[in-house]
Amino acid sequence: MTSQLDWSNLGFGYIPTDYNVRCWYRNGQWGEIEVSSSETINMHMAATSLHYGQEIFEGLKAFRGKDGKVRIFRLDQNAERIRESARGIKMEPVPEELFKQMVVKCVELNARFIPPYGSGASLYIRPLEIGMTAQIGVHPSSEYLFIVMVMPVGPYFKEGFRPTNICIMREFDRVAPKGTGRWKVGGNYAASLEAGERAHELGYSAVLYLDPREKKYLDECGPANFFAIRDGKYITPASESILPSVTNNSLQQLARDMGIPVECRHIELDELEHIDEAGACGTAAVASPVAQIHDLDTGKHYIISKDGEPGPITTKLYNKLRAVQLGDEEDVHGWNTIVEGI
Ligand SMILES: *Cc1c(COP(=O)(O)O)cnc(C)c1O
Repeated sequence: MTSQLDWSNLGFGYIPTDYNVRCWYRNGQWGEIEVSSSETINMHMAATSLHYGQEIFEGLKAFRGKDGKVRIFRLDQNAERIRESARGIKMEPVPEELFKQMVVKCVELNARFIPPYGSGASLYIRPLEIGMTAQIGVHPSSEYLFIVMVMPVGPYFKEGFRPTNICIMREFDRVAPKGTGRWKVGGNYAASLEAGERAHELGYSAVLYLDPREKKYLDECGPANFFAIRDGKYITPASESILPSVTNNSLQQLARDMGIPVECRHIELDELEHIDEAGACGTAAVASPVAQIHDLDTGKHYIISKDGEPGPITTKLYNKLRAVQLGDEEDVHGWNTIVEGI
C-alpha cells in the first residue's frame, strides 16, 4: 500500500507517518527497541530536557532510486555526530549500532511514505534524544529517551535551484566561541530564531554569522554550513563554533574527486569581495546557492552571482551529490546504506 500523498507538492514540515521507534536509557543501560504508533510522548514536567535544554537531534535522508532500492545517505556519520553531541552536553551517547538499527527499522516500517524516484522528494529522518529525569537541581539527567521519526519532504527548491540573498547581522550570535556550536543542540536553534526571523522579514533566506569571538571571520549560514568557490578552489570556514556538516564534508570529497582543491580555513569577511560562487549546505537543501550577501551593519553589498544564476561549480557539486544519493551515479565512497526488501 502506498501513501495517498501528493509527492510533488510536499513541503518541509511535519507529516504523520505510521510508526516511530523509541528506546529508553534507564538504570545505566539502553533497553529494548519499542515501536510506537503514538505521535506524543508522556513525560514528567520536571524533565531536564524541558528545563535545562538537554536535547540533541540529527537530520538525514532516505531516497528511492530508479532501481527501486532505498538508500540512506551517510548513516554512520550521523550516528557518530549524535554521540559527539551527547558528550558535549553530558547526555548518554546512543550506541552506534542501536542508532543504525533504529533508523533502518523506522524507514522499513514507514516504507509506504518513501517518495518515488523522480518526484524530487525524499524521506527525512529525524532522530531525537532528550533528558527525561525529573529533577530541578542543575545536573545531567540519568534517564534518556531516544526517538527516531520520519516524514516525507519535498524538494527544497520549489522554484528550482535558484540563488537567494543572505545577510550579516552583528547584533546576535547563535553560539559562543567555546560553546555548543559544534554540537547539534536544540538550544542553538532557539538562540538563532530572533535573528533568523528578522532576516526573513527583510527578505533574506538566512543569516551568515561571523565568528562570535572577533566577528572577523565567516562562520555558518543559520542552520547550514557556508562554502565558497574562489579561483577554482572550494573554501569553507574552519571554526570552533560551527557544526561539522555531513553535506559539507561530502561536497569537499566530491570536489577533490573532480580535481578541485579544498581549503578548510579561516575566511575573513573581506574575502567575500573575491569569491566567485557561494552556497549554504545541509541535508535539507544539499547546496543552496547565494546571489548577494548584504552586511546590514555597514551597508555593504557583496554581489556573488552577477547574473542571478547559480555558479557552475556549485551546480556541478549539487548535481553530483544528488546523483550519488539517488543511486544514479556510482557510490565510490560507500556512503549509502541500502535497505533491502522495501
Ligand atoms: C544540521 C546542521 C547543519 C547541516 O549539517 P548536515 O549534516 O549537512 O545536514 C549545519 N549547521 C548547523 C548548525 C546544523 O544544525
